[in-house]
Amino acid sequence: MSYIEPAPIKDKDNPLESMMSRFDLAAQKLGLDNETYNVLKNPDKQVIVSLPITMDDGRIKVFSGYRVIHNTILGPSKGGIRYDMGVTLDEVKALAAWMTWKCAVVDIPYGGAKGGIMCNPRAMSKGEIERLTRAYTLSMMDVFGPDKDIPAPDMGTSQQEMAWLMDEYSKAKGMTVNAVVTGKPLVLGGSLGRVEATGRGVMVSALAAMQRLKMNPSQTSCAIQGFGNVGSNTARLLEERGVKIKALSDVSGAFWSDKGIDIQDALRYRDKNNGILEGYPNADKMQDPEGIITCQVDLLVPAAKEDVINIYNAPDIKARLIVEGANGPTSASADDIINEKGIMVVPDILANAGGVTVSYFEWVQNRLGLRWPLERVNRRCDRIMKEAFEKVYSTSLEFNVPMRIAAYIVAIDKVAKTYKFRGGF
Ligand code: GLU
Repeated sequence: MSYIEPAPIKDKDNPLESMMSRFDLAAQKLGLDNETYNVLKNPDKQVIVSLPITMDDGRIKVFSGYRVIHNTILGPSKGGIRYDMGVTLDEVKALAAWMTWKCAVVDIPYGGAKGGIMCNPRAMSKGEIERLTRAYTLSMMDVFGPDKDIPAPDMGTSQQEMAWLMDEYSKAKGMTVNAVVTGKPLVLGGSLGRVEATGRGVMVSALAAMQRLKMNPSQTSCAIQGFGNVGSNTARLLEERGVKIKALSDVSGAFWSDKGIDIQDALRYRDKNNGILEGYPNADKMQDPEGIITCQVDLLVPAAKEDVINIYNAPDIKARLIVEGANGPTSASADDIINEKGIMVVPDILANAGGVTVSYFEWVQNRLGLRWPLERVNRRCDRIMKEAFEKVYSTSLEFNVPMRIAAYIVAIDKVAKTYKFRGGF
């Protein structure tokens, strides 16, 4: 007996096309030569595997797994693994390329990769997820490696999956190799500050942008889409700096409070309520969860999925500033509308780079066999994020382009210069 999984519903723009249209624009502005353009346009390697897993009821179900290595000219490839029903090869290809640009923007010595398994982890038992993770790891033994390709968590995965991955890889190698993966639990060589790092980077980027726009944090209201790792840490850290979080949403709906949502209170509720905000009593449930994008706030942080800001809702956005916690939350077709409205966007490849930056710190600590104190991790991450912001900001002035295209220009320029020195084609 076997399962037949329904095909995922196609209800979004193609993320690869979204990524490519920005890449093309930036390459044009930069005057990138044709050879390098052609190299960067295609991923170095694409691996697709079929993973037969014995489910708890004894039946065998076959899952599709992917790992795309976009580019390794700057160093070993780096990028998370996503467990979601929406995973497709095109999505993983776009996400892998975004990792190349992201690592280049924050100037860490990595290339870009991404992995994914088409599955619904919410509908699977812990044992099923463990078997799937171990099977995926074994099928990627030739791909992964601390000097080759280093995975990390992404949507639908967390430190537990990274622990299984490290364990399976280490067993196959006959020795403990903790630097093969980042985002691990602390006891396995994870880094202090890694869990909240992406949210922290979003907060640092938001504050840097607010400074440029002369927005005072304590007079700024904010809506955050997504209350998972990125959204919840961003909310908590922005609240600590005086920003009023008026709207929050997750898979169960969107919530609004004009006087501001108490984030600690929402976190406590979420943690006691199966990880979701369903029924949260201390804010009003918004009728339309999509309304989180267009509600009356100064700052909008999409921290959930791709293409949530699109041509349909972009004209109604009220925020002056958008800081992208998710990867690819704005579809390329909405860029012009947002630019015409004069909204500043701190793009994903800059705003959410705090996660991979602390992943890099984790990998460095593993290789040196030591642990940095939290204070050092945070200080270094904040500095890298701030410097990257300033570099992208000044590039946007220099080329007279929005921050998103400026971020691509910074990234592509670095990668192209590396090709010039290394040669080889
Ligand atoms: N999945 C995260 C991202 O999209 C983190 C990647 C990493 O730490 O390697 O940036």
